[in-house]
Order: sequence, then C-alpha cells, then structure tokens
Amino acid sequence: MGRGWRSHGEAPAVLTRRSPWLTEDLDPIRDLARTFFAKEVAPHQERFAAQQHVDRELWHKAGEVGLLCPSIPETYGGGGGTFAHEAVIYQEQARAGDSSFGIGVHSGIVAHYLLGYGTEEQKRRWLPRLASGELVGAIAMTEPGAGSDLQGITTRAVRDGEEYVLTGAKTFITNGSQAGLVIVVAKTDPAAGARGVSLLVVETDGAEGFRRGRVLHKVGLHGQDTAELFFDDVRVPAANLLGGQEGQGFVQLMQQLPQERLIIAVSSIAALERAVEVTVDYVKQRKAFGRELLGFQNTRFVLAECATEAAVTRSFVDDCVQRHLTGELDAATAAMAKWWSTDRLCRVVDECVQLFGGYGYMTEYPIARAWTDARVQRIYGGTNEIMKELIARSL
Ligand SMILES: Cc1cc2nc3c(=O)[nH]c(=O)nc-3n(C[C@H](O)[C@H](O)[C@H](O)COP(=O)(O)OP(=O)(O)OC[C@H]3O[C@@H](n4cnc5c(N)ncnc54)[C@H](O)[C@@H]3O)c2cc1C
Repeated sequence: MGRGWRSHGEAPAVLTRRSPWLTEDLDPIRDLARTFFAKEVAPHQERFAAQQHVDRELWHKAGEVGLLCPSIPETYGGGGGTFAHEAVIYQEQARAGDSSFGIGVHSGIVAHYLLGYGTEEQKRRWLPRLASGELVGAIAMTEPGAGSDLQGITTRAVRDGEEYVLTGAKTFITNGSQAGLVIVVAKTDPAAGARGVSLLVVETDGAEGFRRGRVLHKVGLHGQDTAELFFDDVRVPAANLLGGQEGQGFVQLMQQLPQERLIIAVSSIAALERAVEVTVDYVKQRKAFGRELLGFQNTRFVLAECATEAAVTRSFVDDCVQRHLTGELDAATAAMAKWWSTDRLCRVVDECVQLFGGYGYMTEYPIARAWTDARVQRIYGGTNEIMKELIARSL
C-alpha cells in the first residue's frame, strides 16, 4: 500500500464542525463552489501546473455561475453577498486542494479596492467586467527592490495633461500573465513619503509600453501565474487614478490589507484541516510491522496535536471572520490571524508529510503538494515578520 492510495474515509467530526458564521443561506454557494472545484478545477490541476496558469476560459465559467465577486453589490454585477460568501468559496478551493485559480486576489482584493475607493464611474466601468470574468484582476505592489518596505518602491506616475506616464517594474504578481486590469502602486510625489503614493488602474489591453515578463518558476503553487510586469512610459488616462485624488494609495492599502490577510487565514485553516483529514485516512490504511500506522503511539500523539492545532486555529479564524462581518476586525488582529494560521499550517503539513513516509515526498500525493503550496503563505500578503511588527505596534 502507498502508491495508488486514495482518500475514502469519513472526515473526523472535530475537523468538520460548522463555523458559526456559516449560516444556512450560505449552503447553496458552498455547494456550488464544491461542485465547481470538483468538476472544473481538480481534474485539470496537473495540466494547469504544467502550463503555469489556469485556462483563461475558467474565469468565464466561474463568472457565469456566480463565483466571481460574490460580495460586490449586484448593481455592479456582483453577487450581492458578504465576506462570508467569499470565505466559503476560498475554503472550498482549499479543501479541493487547488492552488491555481487566483480568485482570492481577483474577487477578494482587486474588486474591493475598486468598490472601496473607485468613483461611481470607475465602479461601473470595471466591476461588472471583473464579475463576469471578462477582465482578470491583479494588484502590483512588489518590485524587485522593494517588498516589505512598500515606501521604497520606485515606480513613478508623472502627470502629463489628462494622462499619467507610468514607469517601473513589478515582480511576483499573482494573475500576472492573464490580468487585463492591474492596480499599480506608484509614486505620484516621491518627496512626500507615504503621502506621495497613489493607485493607478491599468487596463493592459493595447496599453503601449506595457510588457509581461516570464511566468516565474515557483517551489509550489505551480498552476498559478506569478509574473513580472514592466511599464515603460505607459500612458494611463488620469481618469484611472483610483478614487480620483493623488496621494491616497498608502491609506487605501492599509485599509484593505486586513481583508487580504483574513483571506490567507481562511484558506490556511481549510488547507490545514484537509491535511489532517487526508493523513488520518492514510494512517488508517497503511500498515507497518503488522499493524496500521495509527496504532503507533507516535502517530496518535502527532495527529492529536495536529487536530488540536486545527481546532484552536479554526476558532480564532472563525472569530476573525465574524468580527470582519460586523466591521470590527482591526489590523493587528488580522495580522495575528495571518501569521498564526500560516505558521500552524506549515508546521502541521510538515508533520503530516512525515507520517506519509516516502509517499509524502511524491508530488502525485496531495499531501506533498499541500506542503510545497503552504510555504509561501508565511511570505506573501506581508511576511509573518511584518505581521509581528504590526501586532507589536498595537501593544
Ligand atoms: C507566490 C507569490 C505571489 C505573490 N503575489 C503578489 C501580488 O499579487 N502582488 C504583489 O504586489 N506582491 C506579491 N507577492 C510579493 C510578496 O508580497 C512579497 O514577496 C513579500 O511582501 C515580501 O517582500 P520581499 O519578497 O521583497 O521580501 P523582503 O521585503 O526583502 O524581506 C526579506 C526578509 O526580510 C524580512 N524583513 C523585511 N523587513 C523586515 C522588518 N522590518 N522586520 C523584520 N524582518 C523584516 C522579511 O520578513 C523577510 O523574511 C507575491 C509573492 C509570491 C512569492
């Protein structure tokens, strides 16, 4: 046994408790997402990984069934739901073991910048096209020389009549090769520090001077197109300045980052629970020394610890989701959720790989992919060290 193992056990009840925020009205979208990932994504994961991106058509399919922009008001083409609708979808994605489809960035982040700060005209222009999948969204903050230290970015947007001239290079951009709408963090006044940062929305189609670099080869998240983007004197209409006022970028980023961090936490706890689930299933089937692996005290204690860490993390993340739904999630608590859940995810998945033995190191095994996919969660969305800085500042 080992090769050819397939999960077929019932998930332990301790890992499948219903979250308090998961009200019954969310069941239809949960079922929809579950079916969508099972049918449209899971069977194609290896192909997505080999080509380093999902099929462009997947975005249209997700848009058609209502899985894009679920918490954007219907007036702008969205689903009219709340963050709970987003969270349900990201959890189903993690539970399906998918790490290819960049919907968290598209729906949970990019669309919310537009909704939160866009002028009425900007919202009407872009949100319906994001909700349908006509446009894929990306956000470009990080540069080769500046990641954690966002004030160190050098991308410049210089006003020239009714346009901005945008110059700079961005890297590690999720959805980078498919994005038709990129929110670019740029300096409109380099002398003004944080108050000189603005967000410019670039529609990439036909934008002269815009160039996509290579899709980067990563340790995990193989099906996700993380790319470099280059802006060489790209002329962007002044009407694409998010919110219509210069210098608001840093405040806009700080306000949106808690939701981005909560999305990472929600995905991480779901991935953590799945890791424990598949491992419990495996150690009940695999035998050594004439008994199932679950019979060894070490296996039992390791999994007892992992299940406890899952339960503790779940309670905290659920509490954060509930606070976010009532507008009470502060930046420090969101940072706690991000570092804690991602740190626990990496620890637990590593323990699970060990319990799979050599099979845990084989990429055809879901636990091996979960292990390589998990590592970046401690790095992006603000590194866990930056999370601890934010928390410490609140003390
Ligand atoms: C797969 C992937 C997808 C990504 N998607 C996007 C995206 O869509 N858009 C985007 O803009 N970016 C994206 N990123 C970039 C990501 O957000 C950055 O990599 C991250 O913020 C860290 O920046 P950096 O890589 O420049 O590391 P650095 O900032 O150089 O950090 C290096 C190390 O120094 C530590 N460090 C830095 N400052 C401090 C400090 N003050 N105190 C203590 N330690 C510190 C860091 O914690 C880290 O350990 C993505 C990255 C990856 C890998």
